[in-house]
Amino acid sequence: MSAVAAPAKTMQALVLTAPHEFEIRGVPIPRPGPNEVLARVRAIAICGTDAEIIEGTFKGRWPRSYPFIPGHEWSGDVVDAGEIAQGYGFVPGTRVAGTSHSGCGYCRMCRTGRYNLCFNYGREDLGHRQYGHYTQGAYADYVVHTIKAVFPIPERMPFDVAALCDTASIALHSVKRPGIEPGDVFVAVGSGGMGVLTAMCARALGAARCIVVGGGKRLARAKELGFETVDYHDGDPVARVRGLTGDRGADVAVDSAGTKDSVGQAIRMVRKGGRVAFTGIPKEPSSVDFQKIVLEEIDLYGVRANRNTMEEVIPLMADGRIPAERLITHHFKLSDFREALRTFNERIDGALKVIVEP
Ligand SMILES: [Zn+2]
Ligand SMILES: [Zn+2]
Repeated sequence: MSAVAAPAKTMQALVLTAPHEFEIRGVPIPRPGPNEVLARVRAIAICGTDAEIIEGTFKGRWPRSYPFIPGHEWSGDVVDAGEIAQGYGFVPGTRVAGTSHSGCGYCRMCRTGRYNLCFNYGREDLGHRQYGHYTQGAYADYVVHTIKAVFPIPERMPFDVAALCDTASIALHSVKRPGIEPGDVFVAVGSGGMGVLTAMCARALGAARCIVVGGGKRLARAKELGFETVDYHDGDPVARVRGLTGDRGADVAVDSAGTKDSVGQAIRMVRKGGRVAFTGIPKEPSSVDFQKIVLEEIDLYGVRANRNTMEEVIPLMADGRIPAERLITHHFKLSDFREALRTFNERIDGALKVIVEP
């Protein structure tokens, strides 16, 4: 039973109609099922994956078909909720941050906590969702999510900052996979939002030194945030990182650049017995140094989105230990989405996290 009726029947949404084609138009407001909430979306952060989904890079998978509403890094407040959702405390007025993956909840991967690897991926009939990828997303006035994919946020956390919880939770998962030991030397390969967030998370988990590898205004911002930086325009970044670490290499590297070169570089940047995680998705085949992996016992970790780290990252963001808000460079209205996307894609004024407000 609904506690509060939705205020209107239609809403404005960013609707993709074909690769590279989209418009802001009126669509029906979705209705929540028993274990779902309807939220008024207050802020959405543009993700690199959004840009690729809009381009049609993953057409047939993300989205499966058109029309489609993307968007998965968002925050808002609950305006309506199904009976089960209300039973779990998601009453109207609850401020929440959303995330993309919601596992079926029943398969072995879900039951062992690895719902981002759900065996029933893509089976909406069995309860699986990935919002903004193949399930309708959040670039709209309202969005429906299961309560497995929304998390309460503190009253004092602004909505634009809360829209970064999803990205930050992926960064936290990215550093938890390889593990951070107190005093570790950490390298973030890539100076975009994800790269800087992995460095913030590594520092929060006890890394002594965090080196960010990248270029341009984004790298300058990493430096402002107190990280050591290596500009790949200044020569071989592997040699530079090894030089900064007494020629031993870092303890842990996380690659978020996801290029055919960066994945191999991340491996060559770590010490003997080092750990490397990969959160960027290379589009081309790349060759890596398997002799080093074997002879130096390098541990490699794939990272798919996040799991169970929303509840962990929200308090770390709220108390400033992960100052994700420092990455917000721009705000746009949903009606100005085209300009927002251009700012993000062309990295205008060093754009990192660009916030869209419906
Ligand atoms: Zn994202
Ligand atoms: Zn599952």
